Amino acid sequence: MTTEVILTGTGVPHPRPGRAGAGTLVRRGDVALQFDAGRATVLRLMEAGTAPHALTALFVTHVHSDHVVDLADVAMTRWVQQQLVASGPLVVVAPEGGAARFVRRMLEPFDDDLALRVAHVGAGPVEVDLRPFTVPASPEVVWTSDDGTVRVLAVAVHHEPVPDAVAYRVETPDGAVVVSGDTRVCDEVERLARGADVLVHEACRTTALAPLIAGTTFETIFSYHADTVALGAMAERSGVPHVVLTHLIPPPDRPGDAAAFAQDLRDGGYRGEVTVGEDLTAVTLPAGGQPCMR
Ligand SMILES: [Zn+2]
Ligand SMILES: [Zn+2]
Repeated sequence: MTTEVILTGTGVPHPRPGRAGAGTLVRRGDVALQFDAGRATVLRLMEAGTAPHALTALFVTHVHSDHVVDLADVAMTRWVQQQLVASGPLVVVAPEGGAARFVRRMLEPFDDDLALRVAHVGAGPVEVDLRPFTVPASPEVVWTSDDGTVRVLAVAVHHEPVPDAVAYRVETPDGAVVVSGDTRVCDEVERLARGADVLVHEACRTTALAPLIAGTTFETIFSYHADTVALGAMAERSGVPHVVLTHLIPPPDRPGDAAAFAQDLRDGGYRGEVTVGEDLTAVTLPAGGQPCMR
C-alpha cells in the first residue's frame, strides 16, 4: 500500500483554463482525505479516481471562497451517488469560526431543490457530519482513521486578516504530507513540515513581481500569501525533501513561468525536489519515512 498525494486544483480566484480551484487529495487504501474544495473539485476528484461518495473526510483550511465554493457540490454529488453506493454523511473537519459557519449554512440555498429530490426518489436527506475544532497554536490531532493508521493534525497559520486559517499534516504508515492552505511563509508550517516527506505549499512570486504590483490591489493581496523566495528558505530550514507548489500566483501561462517558481525556491536556498503543480499532479509517499512529528 502507498500514500498518494494528488492536486485536485492548483488555481486561484482569477480563473485559468485547466486549473481548478484549491484542493489536495491524500489517499491510502480505503482512506481518502480531501483538503479544500475549490471550483471544479468534483470533476477533478472523478478524474483522480476518487468519487465524492468514496471520500472518508473533507478538511477545510479557511473560509475563503476559492477553497470552499464546491463543498456543497461535493456533499450533494455524494448524496446522488449514494443512491448507487451507500456511503453515509460527508464528514467535514473545519476550523470553528467562519469556515464552520459556512459548512452549517452551505446547503440552505438548495433547500427547495433538495426537498423536491428527496420526496421524488424517497431517499434520506443530504447529510453533512461537521466536526469543528478550535484552531490550535501548536499542532493538534483533529482526525484519526477508524483503524488508527492515519491521523491528521492542524495548526494555525498566518493568513491575516483572515482568522482561523490552518495547515494540516497527514501522517500514514508510509510517511507524512503537509498541506499549507493559504498563508504567509511562517514558523508554524516550518515546524509542521519537519520530518515530513512532502510539503504542498501555496506559492506567490512576490519578490519577482514587487516592482510591477507596487501601489496596486495586488500588493495587498500578495501580502497574505507565501513569497516563493522566502518559502525556499523556510523549506530548506525544515528539511522537507520535496516541495509541491500549488495555488500559483500568478498562474503560469507561458513557457518558463513554472520554472521561474522553482528558481525562486532555489534563490531562497532550497536544495530538495521541487514540483510546480498542475491539476492532477501526483506524488507517492515513500514507505519507511518518519511519519510522527518530532
Ligand atoms: Zn486561496
Ligand atoms: Zn485565502
